[in-house]
Amino acid sequence: MGFLSGKRALIVGVASNRSIAWGIARAMRHQGAELAFSYQNERLRPRVEALATEVDSRVVLPCEMTDDGEIDAMFESLRRDWSRLDILVHAAAFAPREALSGEFLHGLDREAFRVAHEISSYSFSALAAAARPLMEAEGGALLTMTYLGADRVLPNYNVMGPAKASLEASVRYLAENLGPQGIRVNAISAGPIRTLAASGIANFRKLLDHAERIAPLRRNVTIDDVGNVAAFLCSDLAAGITGEITFVDAGYNILGTGSL
Ligand code: NAD
Repeated sequence: MGFLSGKRALIVGVASNRSIAWGIARAMRHQGAELAFSYQNERLRPRVEALATEVDSRVVLPCEMTDDGEIDAMFESLRRDWSRLDILVHAAAFAPREALSGEFLHGLDREAFRVAHEISSYSFSALAAAARPLMEAEGGALLTMTYLGADRVLPNYNVMGPAKASLEASVRYLAENLGPQGIRVNAISAGPIRTLAASGIANFRKLLDHAERIAPLRRNVTIDDVGNVAAFLCSDLAAGITGEITFVDAGYNILGTGSL
């Protein structure tokens, strides 16, 4: 019996077997959780359905997070299947590619700023609001994914920095708002991992090489490293933790200059 046995988790953000959400799903399944998945659009549906069967899940629902109707429909469908939810994982973000290369102001306009913030930050609060009725009777855990670019300036991360800062502030406000109902809210700040979303950031390969060279553990993290911490944070083992940003980055964030 794993430490998540008896828990039901909805995983938002699987796009491929490289997705951080997939590492989280595998770790949670390994610890005994029952899983449901969402997919962003019809193009991703077959891939998410195939991955879901690998972890014994048959609940696979559409959810384009810019559409309130799709968010409502997903939770309505989940309510019919499961009646309650213990864990919600939000591992999704987006900014237009033009805004993720060069200097901060290059490619930045009102629309790029709006899109980055809506999809990468607001969507977490929107899902939290929709999940709340399914969690408030017995409590639950919400988890999202962030990056060091929320706190520090990193090349090409650009508009995603302010979007992740907004997401991290939302984690704290949601934690305070939902804590009285026993709903915990946390984030993992992961080191760089090669995924579809990461490939939109210019020179991402260089960022990976740099992190591997100077991080205290002298390696990059994997989706399994992130998944294991996610499973812990969403389990009763972490019952006293809420509103936290936990780094899973081989120690990179503690550095000043790294080795010279
Ligand atoms: P990924 O491309 O595998 O996953 C991103 C997911 O976001 C996809 O499943 C995509 O369908 C979903 N998505 C984007 N826009 C959406 C929308 N409008 N509606 C619904 N879903 C939408 O990439 P990933 O790296 O696994 O990203 C997961 C999370 O981890 C993101 O929040 C990302 O910022 C964060 N993160 C990634 C890294 C990294 O280096 N890869 C590091 C730290 C944090």
